[in-house]
Amino acid sequence: MRLLVVEDEEDLVDALRVGLVRAGYAVDVAYDAPSAHEKLQVNTYDLVLLDLNLPGGDGFELCRTVRAAGKGGVRIIMVTARDRLDDRVRGLDEGADDYLVKPFAFPELLARVRALLRRDSGGGTSVLQVGGLRIDTARLEVTLDGRSLALTPKEYGVLHYLMTRPGHVVSTEELLEHVWDEHADPFTNTVRVTVGNLRRKLQEDGLIETVISRGYRLREPT
Ligand code: CA
Repeated sequence: MRLLVVEDEEDLVDALRVGLVRAGYAVDVAYDAPSAHEKLQVNTYDLVLLDLNLPGGDGFELCRTVRAAGKGGVRIIMVTARDRLDDRVRGLDEGADDYLVKPFAFPELLARVRALLRRDSGGGTSVLQVGGLRIDTARLEVTLDGRSLALTPKEYGVLHYLMTRPGHVVSTEELLEHVWDEHADPFTNTVRVTVGNLRRKLQEDGLIETVISRGYRLREPT
């Protein structure tokens, strides 16, 4: 899953980026409102962490723009030092899905991110299960038929994304958009290589099917 962190405090951005990448997310950063606008137009995000007080604009306006553009699928968590009740109410009314007041504990932020992201996949807890595949997004543990798998962050990201859409064809472009950050080179074969490595670790060839010229599909349990 791919996140955009919109925040102008560099120390906080650095800490968030490290923690979120470690938690298996692809992370882009915008330090001001104009660059956040641009990234939101160009890229596809699963979730945005949105500071309210930003150089060149404010988070309320950004939130409104995202919703006006019909991007209902992107989850938004407002993160701000403003803890007045009317700010929180306004944030939620402008289209934010959640609201977190600074200073916050990172584990709580992570739990809220997980909770919002699993709304789309219909899962009720941090554990996703497809056939013998099980992924615990809170502990970053992956098992296949009880056997533990050691995956790189990208392998984990690809598998997690496929497991939210079992039986659906997911294109290479879609994987690049949701699992890699903005520094990914769209002309490399990085997706193909990652899927190949993932298959090798799964030791089960048919689990991730290649659908010629369309993409990949995680086999649904029979
Ligand atoms: Ca700020």
